[in-house]
Amino acid sequence: MTAKRRCPRRTAVIAAAAVAVCALALAGFLLGLFGGRGGTHELRVLLYHNIISGEGGDENNTPLADFKRDMQTLSEGGYHPVSVADLEAYVGQGAELPENAVLIRFDDGYLSNYELAYPVLKEYGYKAVIFAIGVSVGHTTYKDTQTPIIPHFTYEQAREMTESGLIEVQSHTYDMHQVKPLDGENCRQGILPMDGESDADYAETLRADFAHSRAELESATGQAVTALAYPYGLHGELTEDVLKQAGVTVTFIIEKGVNTLTEGVPQSLYNLKVSTVGSLAQG
Ligand SMILES: [Zn+2]
Repeated sequence: MTAKRRCPRRTAVIAAAAVAVCALALAGFLLGLFGGRGGTHELRVLLYHNIISGEGGDENNTPLADFKRDMQTLSEGGYHPVSVADLEAYVGQGAELPENAVLIRFDDGYLSNYELAYPVLKEYGYKAVIFAIGVSVGHTTYKDTQTPIIPHFTYEQAREMTESGLIEVQSHTYDMHQVKPLDGENCRQGILPMDGESDADYAETLRADFAHSRAELESATGQAVTALAYPYGLHGELTEDVLKQAGVTVTFIIEKGVNTLTEGVPQSLYNLKVSTVGSLAQG
């Protein structure tokens, strides 16, 4: 009787097959990490505030001619403007997101967004997201005082824009966007807690403010409000926790940088940074 011996050739074939399976698994993992389906996607955010018909301009006032030139740059560069809903669908459900995705963002809700920028966006068929301050909607003076402010669009105008299917109107808080020269030196800084404010009091104030902002916007536009741009970009851990509990799934800051969205990782939709058109042109 001879002892049963393993066939060396079969062992080698099994080992080779195991190596091949491992290599395939590794390739799939790397593909998941660095691109392709189940992977990641770059997103650039362009930030605007007021659009002006004249020349000049500054950080908060973009001449219409410059805005038009930026849209032309996006068109020539093969960029594809996307919505907040597109980002949520990509990260949450693995929906397609175009290459060269860019999100066009407007803060504060100025009337010029409706009168000057919206017609240009329609011309290009570009999506954009406007973050409105609830207390300023439809106002030309500051919070029922006589102090004039740059006019803001009305809820009716917001609805007209959202009905186009191109524009989303999301939250820039209801009334947590104080202006020091008008509210006083000791006013709240953006959405942050006040000095001496307890966590519980702060959480309740923020919850109530966002609920107010969302309720008015949703009843005006019929669109879900799930995104918030932090006033002045100010934010903190407790702020984010409260907003997450309130159903906010996407937040925006003003720090510069390119964002990486990851399928199945909701956290990749928080604190999205902004780019300049100049940086897009450089690749
Ligand atoms: Zn703002």
